[in-house]
Amino acid sequence: MSDLARLVGVLAERRVVVLTGAGCSTESGIPDYRGEETARRARQPMRFAAFNGSDAARRRYWARSMLGWPRVAGAEPNDAHLALAELERRGHVVGVITQNVDGLHARAGSKRVVELHGRLSEVSCVRCGAAESRRTLQARLEALNPGWLGRRVELAPDGDAELDETADFVVPSCTACGGALRPRVVFFGESVPRHVVESANELLEDANALLVVGSSLVVFSGFRFVRRAAEVGHPIAIVNLGRTRGDELAAVRVHGRAGDVLRAFALALA
Ligand code: NAD
Repeated sequence: MSDLARLVGVLAERRVVVLTGAGCSTESGIPDYRGEETARRARQPMRFAAFNGSDAARRRYWARSMLGWPRVAGAEPNDAHLALAELERRGHVVGVITQNVDGLHARAGSKRVVELHGRLSEVSCVRCGAAESRRTLQARLEALNPGWLGRRVELAPDGDAELDETADFVVPSCTACGGALRPRVVFFGESVPRHVVESANELLEDANALLVVGSSLVVFSGFRFVRRAAEVGHPIAIVNLGRTRGDELAAVRVHGRAGDVLRAFALALA
């Protein structure tokens, strides 16, 4: 039996909740952390304690982010995002729990989306909580740091870029109170807010199967839903290039590109 036939066999008669990771967006041009391509340039993502604790770390973060953001802002949903939105419209998929911060599921038309790690398009003040869009912040970053966008850098995951010398980078502050700004994403070393975990659990309860797409499941905040699905007896299907931490728990594993596999899967169920 082909991988696709096995995927259809496990999921066709089920209400499916989908857990996605960075691998769902690589075909949109946004790099992952632990894929075959990225392993060779593995890097430590910034942790919350570092970001929160030092002006130099925040400078480095926003300098890299200014260079990385245009790629994320300009990314378009790919066949994987579009197939999941279509499967939700048809009632096969109850919703998507995503570890991604790029907003591409909503852009593709998915309605029930739980963004475990927030989204890069929103920024807030750590002191007064005032919100600002990442788009307007980008304009302020560029105005304060003319010439920086022209630098040649390698794009890194999370709307980030490789960059070492940032001592002369000027970081804008909150327009309301002058406090430091942060992206509305969950940094490594921070926890996912409780209400977000509860929304994801509700999706899991409304479903009776779990499909993982493009995640190594190394990060616990995503892996916990695979464990939970296994505990309550939902069959688990995984579509990923490469091994994942959930492989032993899966009823079916498909090694393939998310866009190709999900497009074929949606066609097979039509
Ligand atoms: P990960 O990088 O740990 O794993 C991605 C997996 O997807 C890898 O196993 C890789 O081989 C696979 N993959 C890559 N391209 C694929 C494709 N086209 N089809 C199928 N599989 C593919 O990602 P993760 O598990 O999501 O954990 C990384 C964390 O970093 C997340 O929690 C997320 O918050 C953050 N992150 C987000 C983005 C984004 O928003 N697009 C990008 C990078 C990292």
